[in-house]
Amino acid sequence: MTDAAGTPPNGPPTGPTGASSRAEQIMRFIFTLRSKGVRDPAVLQAMERIDRGAFLRGVFAEHAYEDMPLPIACGQTISQPSVVALMTEALAVGPRDKVLEVGTGSGYQAAVLSLLARRVYTVERHRRLVSEARAVFDRLGLSNITAIAADGSFGLPEQAPFDRIIVTAAAEDAPGPLLAQLRTGGIMVLPVGQSDTVQSLIKVRKLETGMEYEELRTVRFVPLLEGMARD
Ligand code: SAH
Repeated sequence: MTDAAGTPPNGPPTGPTGASSRAEQIMRFIFTLRSKGVRDPAVLQAMERIDRGAFLRGVFAEHAYEDMPLPIACGQTISQPSVVALMTEALAVGPRDKVLEVGTGSGYQAAVLSLLARRVYTVERHRRLVSEARAVFDRLGLSNITAIAADGSFGLPEQAPFDRIIVTAAAEDAPGPLLAQLRTGGIMVLPVGQSDTVQSLIKVRKLETGMEYEELRTVRFVPLLEGMARD
């Protein structure tokens, strides 16, 4: 039997092609980010443009637009979108900036940054995550991201200095090599604190006169580990 109205027998109403449900999902996603305090229009626009589902596998992709961290390969996690947005906002990236991210993970944070910056270097200690993230960057046509398999606690000396540095794994303190690779006038955003407790998200400004630290909020990230992983 055909349904004359052309509406699906069950489930929420969708447009003729089902496209409106995705548009609605994104609208709700952006609304959630705003309600969590994200204000910068450029950041909200970047979050709207990058499909978080492209960085997730299997059933997890269905939850891409929910504001929660989700599992990715190698026992790691893709961060919660509101945390990605707030960290990106705190980083205050400009279109001429060269950015370093430590902790590529799925590649989602790097993708969001790539729409705001001139160039993004992202380093990750799991080679498998690096190659998977590169494949997604290629598929999405994000050509200003360079993903490198390396221990990011040492930064990326060959590309230093950086205008902005973001660390998406928690260390006890801001790593010295990263502070050294930040340009004067630059900003670094990172979680600090012990891995099994709540950490503080901090914003560091490198001034002529020294470092200025600002505590933003509490967060929970996987630890920044030493050396390369086996996979
Ligand atoms: N930014 C990611 C989420 C990061 S999860 C995203 O958008 O999906 C933190 C990542 O940091 C993990 O993948 C972990 O393997 C990586 N990591 C931990 N210590 C590291 C180190 N010393 N160097 C590089 N990457 C590291």
